[in-house]
Amino acid sequence: MKTLKFGGTSVANAQNIQLVIEIVSQKAKNGKLAVVVSALSGITDALINAAQKAASKDESYKNSIEEIKQKHFDAIGQLVDNANQNQLLIKINNQINQLQTLLDGCFLLGELSPRTADAVAGFGELLSSQIIATALQQTLPNSTFKDSRELIKTNSNFGKAVVDFELTNKFIADFFNSNASQVVILPGFIANDANGNTTTLGRGGSDYTAAIVANGTNSESLEIWTDVNGMFTANPKIVKQAQPIESISYQEAMELSHFGAKVLYPPTIQPVLKSNIPIWIKNTFESDAYGTLISNQKEVGTNPIKGISHIDNIALLTLEGSGMIGVAGSSKRLFEVLSLHNINVIFITQASSEHSICIGILNADADKAKQAIDSAFEIEITQNKIDPCSVEKDLCIVALVGESMKNHQGISGKMFSTLGKNNVNIRAIAQGASERNISVVINEKDVKKALNTLHERFFEDNTKQLNLFVMGVGNVGEKFIDQIHQQKKFLKENLKINVRVISLSNSRKMVFDDEGISLKDWKLTLENGETANPKEFINKVKELNLRNSIFVDITANSDIASIYDQFLSQNIAVVTCNKIACSSQFENYKNLKYLSRKYNAPFLFETNVGAGLPIIDTLKHLIASGDKVNRINAVLSGSLNFIFNNFSETYNFHDVVKEAGIQGFTEPDPKIDLSGVDVARKILILIRESGYAMEMEDIENNCFLPNECMKTTNNDDFFTSLIKHSAHFEQLLAEAKSKESRLKFVASFDKGKASVGLQFIPKESPFYNLEGKDNIVEFYTDRYVDQPLIIKGAGAGAAVTASGIFADVIRIGNV
Ligand code: ADP
Ligand code: ASP
Ligand code: MG
Repeated sequence: MKTLKFGGTSVANAQNIQLVIEIVSQKAKNGKLAVVVSALSGITDALINAAQKAASKDESYKNSIEEIKQKHFDAIGQLVDNANQNQLLIKINNQINQLQTLLDGCFLLGELSPRTADAVAGFGELLSSQIIATALQQTLPNSTFKDSRELIKTNSNFGKAVVDFELTNKFIADFFNSNASQVVILPGFIANDANGNTTTLGRGGSDYTAAIVANGTNSESLEIWTDVNGMFTANPKIVKQAQPIESISYQEAMELSHFGAKVLYPPTIQPVLKSNIPIWIKNTFESDAYGTLISNQKEVGTNPIKGISHIDNIALLTLEGSGMIGVAGSSKRLFEVLSLHNINVIFITQASSEHSICIGILNADADKAKQAIDSAFEIEITQNKIDPCSVEKDLCIVALVGESMKNHQGISGKMFSTLGKNNVNIRAIAQGASERNISVVINEKDVKKALNTLHERFFEDNTKQLNLFVMGVGNVGEKFIDQIHQQKKFLKENLKINVRVISLSNSRKMVFDDEGISLKDWKLTLENGETANPKEFINKVKELNLRNSIFVDITANSDIASIYDQFLSQNIAVVTCNKIACSSQFENYKNLKYLSRKYNAPFLFETNVGAGLPIIDTLKHLIASGDKVNRINAVLSGSLNFIFNNFSETYNFHDVVKEAGIQGFTEPDPKIDLSGVDVARKILILIRESGYAMEMEDIENNCFLPNECMKTTNNDDFFTSLIKHSAHFEQLLAEAKSKESRLKFVASFDKGKASVGLQFIPKESPFYNLEGKDNIVEFYTDRYVDQPLIIKGAGAGAAVTASGIFADVIRIGNV
């Protein structure tokens, strides 16, 4: 004989019940079955809700009853043949009338006793089981209905009654021994007390009913049919990458369900554990899927962690004070008072000094618990020996579970560092003596991030998900997104980095998708997005609170450069090609670096100097390894280099500048390049990264633009002024020619002084042959004294800048 249980979703409507009937009919061919069913999905909640409404004098409970009735009548209409319909409708109608009478009573009295609440809640299973039994009889005439209340006997602890196993086992054995039906359908969740009142076994209790029946009938197995492919490595609704666990021990399954894996009601394992009946978790909607086997087999897998689970709505209560030290019995008193008030303790830690004890309970019990504890310890509190109990709400317990964790070192270390890297604050820690679980208490707002990042760490081959929030999709931004799109698969397979773009914004529109925006048609998605609003943007990034969040600034906007601190201080990394922040006031630059360290949020800006060239990264390594930069010589403007390399007697100055703009080598405002400001910003950043505190004003800018060009306020006027002063530029060119040299815009730093300006570069200089839009940097350091360390290559252009930004993102992924 086997016992099967079908949950609420499995019997949610006629269509699903039809699937259940097919499964049961198939299974019945191989032996007898006891089949326990839940209420139709959502009905238990609806019943409890209606009763609460009635008790609070809200007449709309009547509509609720009508809706409940309709759902059941609909199912009957679709499942039961005409010949059997009337009889069943009358029976169900009678029971709905009884329900109505109960609720009318609640309404008149304005109260809902625990006893009535159980009687009301129990109607869900009572109705569903009779409908399913009748429908099944049409296919399998040798099947019958049995009211579980006649078999399962409990005490009168309404809401979560305690089973009298001696009586219950006897009743079950007697019934099944004398019953010849191939299939017996029973309602889950409900039982009877000694006075014949309906009791319930706790929310989710139909699993438990099935385990009691399996135990009482000594079934060969217990099958829990639900809406997922088994017990998963984490709640699949929150962790998309979670996988079904093929095989798990009773103890592990018990830990996972105790810590919130709702797929199995925690007490379920107890009755079958003793009799060693295996439990299968199966999916009604994918009956061929393997599912999960829960048994006493101790499987030695490679992963010491079997699953991660969590419980929401937790409050942490702390009792502390010198009065706790060495006073035998404080904990006893604490737990006694909680038990007296029926408060379930989910989590306990005690400091070894015995100075404090900390317990985790449900939020809903917190106020009651505080009151009870404070009054139990009233004397000590008045004598200032113990502080009044402190309460912290809206927390969550996250537990790692695995039988063989005890044989592995360092799991808790990995757990804490993974959470720490994502700035998830751990409020309390507990490790079971069995070492089968390690649990931590964290803020509820961090739970999704914590579960996903832990899952990644322990189950996904260390694959790291990076969540990008991209601001600015111009020339460079567009290339950046194309590159991600192209490389996504490669990165996942080879570097175990899963890059997702969660948000895109330009100055007009923004779009968010926490599942990741499809990059195939991102332009259209963005066009159809909401109106851009940087404040909203920041709030949304914070609200989503995704692990490994990275804000990517691909604008040249000073307003955007001023919001980095808001991201960094939320542990959100910043990657930027915008030079404004790092070349702003030194205090600001320093603060951003400080926030990055403090909140463990990378702040990377490799593309601030030399586009995709690894200049800043190299500098960082030099400094980190103890070297000291003494002198820097560099050509840092790809745009100016392009301009002076192309400017000739036949290609006049202002046309070259225009072309540079078209090819994306200049800033949107070309004056920033031509005035030397852009180069000054770059050398300033290199100087600061070398460890010197310097301000923009300290850099001498030997500008080659005539004053009139400098004074223009828009691009059109600027170009007109370039035409007007053509002679000035031609004169510079002629002078270079006469000196057999080339014009290069050079930045230098030496003995604490920095300058930028146009220079005539002679043939012997390594700068002479710098072609196209190339950049070159020479670092003279303590180690590179006579021959500098030279970095040279393409220093401007959308594609190389985009790849530089991309490299920064990957650097974060590789940490
Ligand atoms: P039923 O109505 O069949 O009893 P439940 O809703 O009680 O189903 O339990 C199944 C649900 O449990 C799943 O849909 C899933 O959302 C949730 N769940 C939470 N944690 C886990 C887990 N670790 N594995 C599988 N499901 C889980
Ligand atoms: N129907 C009950 C509940 O919703 C019992 C169950 O479905 O397991 O809690
Ligand atoms: Mg359930």
